Amino acid sequence: MIIIMRIDVTPDEIANVTKRIEHYGARVHPIQGSERVVLGIVGDVRKVNQDEFMLMPCVDRILPVTRPYKRASREFSAQNTVVPMDGIKFGTDEIVIIAGPCSVESRVQMLEIAHAVQEAGATVLRGGAFKPRTSPYAFQGMGEQGLEILAEAREATGLGIVTEVISPEQVDLISKYTDMFQIGARNMQNYPLLHKVGEYQMPVLLKRGLSASIDEFLLAAEYILSHDNSRVVLCERGIRTFETATRNTTDINAVPVLKERTHLPVILDPSHSTGHWQYVNAIARAAIAAGADGLMVEVHNKPEEALSDGGQSLKPERFAEMVAQVRAIADAVGRTISTKTIHN
Ligand code: PEP
Ligand code: MN
Repeated sequence: MIIIMRIDVTPDEIANVTKRIEHYGARVHPIQGSERVVLGIVGDVRKVNQDEFMLMPCVDRILPVTRPYKRASREFSAQNTVVPMDGIKFGTDEIVIIAGPCSVESRVQMLEIAHAVQEAGATVLRGGAFKPRTSPYAFQGMGEQGLEILAEAREATGLGIVTEVISPEQVDLISKYTDMFQIGARNMQNYPLLHKVGEYQMPVLLKRGLSASIDEFLLAAEYILSHDNSRVVLCERGIRTFETATRNTTDINAVPVLKERTHLPVILDPSHSTGHWQYVNAIARAAIAAGADGLMVEVHNKPEEALSDGGQSLKPERFAEMVAQVRAIADAVGRTISTKTIHN
């Protein structure tokens, strides 16, 4: 942090700022320029209450130098973090493909889709049992029965399971069925929920909020990491913009920016980021070309009958086509598609 003092600052005022900075456990390095005094603040500046200094008449501006997050930052770990989920690993050279329907709708539907996505190359199965729907009248999910179906599909295929948790009270129940918690875009800043999943040594798929900046996204991850649960995988899923041709706008920039700012694995969800099945394949390829560590794709055997997000769901054949094309891109950037399941 750098504090730029006003031109007319007095030695007493500098001494006062220094005393207050030291009160927060940080240190001051004054730099006397030809016109101004600039104070370089070193140490753990995250504890410094910037407002106190902004309010001082002798302070002109404050410039942050360190990122507001700590454990999530690249400075904290130069090496990429690998998030294990039994035999499956996020954050290696192997790209992990998560696929499945938006919602668990029935046992038959889920088992059929599970086998189809496995056949096509996915190693993790998605499906919401508790759905955070925009409308309270829309299908809200099958609840615990849906979790039982997911567990059965896991047993039948060896696919890892990821399912969404929408309130802290559900975390314990869901932990008994799933391999990974999903925190959805609408809950990215649900702090009690972030605290709660942080208390479990289980992987968390954290989706970017609809209007969250990259720093806000990483601060949400920091909540989980601050509990010593370092198993966080970040998921770019599109952001709100003025564009209405697609449901959201894929922030493809977020992939390299996140890879630079954090050591955590980064995956992309082209289904929610576009909202139309026609664009999913192209954006899946773009994500891998941009350096994503994985994909999360909605797949449905009968999209026209889906209880949620049918319009953005790929049919299994189209998903298989997508995986084949993604494989070619992975090859071009020196990566492969993971074939590991929870058993190996
Ligand atoms: C989902 O994955 O089905 C979902 C609700 O996604 P998001 O939270 O990104 O909207
Ligand atoms: Mn969905």
